[in-house]
Amino acid sequence: MLAYDAMEIELKEIHEFPAQLKLFERPQDLQFEIDGVRFVNGVTIELSIQKTDHEYFVNGRCLAEVQMICARCLESATLKLSGDLSVIAQIDEPRRPGRAGKSGKRERSEQFEDSEELVQLDQSERLVLVEPVRQALFAEVPRKPLCREDCQGLCQKCGVNLNSKTCDCHKGVSDSRWEGLGDLLEKNGRA
Ligand SMILES: [Zn+2]
Ligand SMILES: [Zn+2]
Repeated sequence: MLAYDAMEIELKEIHEFPAQLKLFERPQDLQFEIDGVRFVNGVTIELSIQKTDHEYFVNGRCLAEVQMICARCLESATLKLSGDLSVIAQIDEPRRPGRAGKSGKRERSEQFEDSEELVQLDQSERLVLVEPVRQALFAEVPRKPLCREDCQGLCQKCGVNLNSKTCDCHKGVSDSRWEGLGDLLEKNGRA
């Protein structure tokens, strides 16, 4: 397995297919940001690359450990993101005279699907993965991140973090005035 340290692949330099590649990008070198997400250890990208006459098929997985704010207790939550990436990179073929008659028409790959991104390479055949990687990870960012599945959240009354403390707020008769707020915070059912 070859290792690269930038989110860019020189496809021309690969001579054996299918090729397995592993790339690693440090947090400080990441060329993108996702709102509300802090990358802890960078992003690992595992790729499998196949080549036909006209295209490279780049499939892989992006792995990242991130920190987000837990939607229930508002503490920092560490989460693992794992997103799939799929790019078809079309090779730039200069039109040479006398060649058009043979296979002038470029057929669009039958494997092409909506989820795949189509990229037109230039002569250098350098594939930049910044945007595909960002999209793959962005798709995996939870809308409601939780520090853990059974996070108890904050007490709706006194605000203590119920993961680490208990309070006496719910021992008596429940206060109906707070139920509306509970719905709002989607914390009902755990009161
Ligand atoms: Zn939490
Ligand atoms: Zn309380």
